[in-house]
Amino acid sequence: MDDFNTEKYIEQRLQQAMAFLEPLQPGFIDILTSPKKSTVVNFPIQMDDQSVQVFRGFRVLHSHVNGPGKGGIRYSPNLTYAEIAALAALMTWKCALINVPFSGAKGGVCCDTKSLSDNELRHITRRFISELGDDIGPHTDIPAPDLYTNERTMGWIYDTYDVMHPGRNNRPVVTGKAIDLGGSLGRQLATGQGCLYATLRFIERIKPVGISSLKDRTVAIQGYGNVGSSVARLFQQEGAKIVGISDSQGGIYAENGLDLDALDEYKSKNRTVVGLAETMSITNEDLLELECDILIPAATSHQVTSENADRVKASMVIEAGNAPVTPSANQVLSEKGIIVLPDILMNAGGVTVSYYEWVQNIENQQWSLAEVNQKLNNKMIKATDAVIDKWLSLNENLPLRQEDDNAPQAVDLHTAALVVALNRLLSTIEERGIWP
Ligand code: NAD
Repeated sequence: MDDFNTEKYIEQRLQQAMAFLEPLQPGFIDILTSPKKSTVVNFPIQMDDQSVQVFRGFRVLHSHVNGPGKGGIRYSPNLTYAEIAALAALMTWKCALINVPFSGAKGGVCCDTKSLSDNELRHITRRFISELGDDIGPHTDIPAPDLYTNERTMGWIYDTYDVMHPGRNNRPVVTGKAIDLGGSLGRQLATGQGCLYATLRFIERIKPVGISSLKDRTVAIQGYGNVGSSVARLFQQEGAKIVGISDSQGGIYAENGLDLDALDEYKSKNRTVVGLAETMSITNEDLLELECDILIPAATSHQVTSENADRVKASMVIEAGNAPVTPSANQVLSEKGIIVLPDILMNAGGVTVSYYEWVQNIENQQWSLAEVNQKLNNKMIKATDAVIDKWLSLNENLPLRQEDDNAPQAVDLHTAALVVALNRLLSTIEERGIWP
């Protein structure tokens, strides 16, 4: 099956979940498959060498069913509208599953941050946000960081929007800001922290074979940006041994575990993890196939596919990035007894603390780190329990499968998570009613 396509990925995931949804009013599911509003802009930027380049940007508001749109802005040279629209749908599912009052959105600009100066990046960000105009706003659509954007980018977004809308509190227009601009304590590590809380709950409740805690478990992480680096730190603090890490340049391996302080220092000087002393260089493909207990893809989509799933050796795969495991790869892994913990739950800590930042901005409050993490832990545990309960009940109710019949296979955790999210969304649509 060719599944190397984010748009198709969304379709396949929906198909899998639809078999288990409460009976639907015809047409309802179409509301959740059609993006509510899409904006495509092309804009010129004068580069440092005075040449002029045109950049393309997208913002897709997938839904308004559950509240304002919420979703990251990513910078990447090969972005497409279809990919952004699919990722916006994923955000709608994620917000419903974690139960924050937002719907999904996503945006981005086609550009290669590695070849741009800070000045050019600032110009691109400001111009993009001015082109979006009132497509974003504190109560309509609220961006956040994503691939190759960070709190500095969010600061420029806030400042641009604030200049365009003077005289009111505009801090809630964007989350993932620096603390001085109204960012929340705990937002920087939130995606990793949420991933850790959910992982610990899964281990406690489903007791995966060979993994009774994180202590001494070997972990390989693909991607060493915001999500990958925070997951590495937090899992190591729980006693896990991080044996492999990669970034876009390649990977490194150390049988006895990596020294993360040395790695951070090396990466900030060399802009890659590759070449750190006392490590063996490996490729990104090798990293996914490492002999380890837990594999955590925390970079781009479609990394474990039907082509390489058979060579994954970990006992558990945690989707910390968005859509790193394709549905067909998920099936191969499940058949091998490898548990896949689904992205819409495992990286929902980011949007959860973004929601806390938004609330603090509206109320002009600053919560303590302990308060943020306590609230985050409660949310992650509640959502994880909902997924596990649904997964257990769906599998209990499956007809017994004979060797050669077409009865459905065991339901995976991804499908269970999506069923929880879609049932919530569909009942919200029903209760709101179709306007007019
Ligand atoms: P980031 O830009 O901070 O880091 C991305 C990392 O991935 C970098 O180390 C980069 O070198 C690496 N990378 C890129 N392409 C790669 C490849 N082909 N192989 C290996 N490594 C590669 O991005 P991030 O914010 O850490 O986001 C990572 C993933 O998590 C994305 O899928 C994003 O959508 C998702 N996510 C992020 C957040 C958040 O709060 N930042 C929240 C939820 C989900």
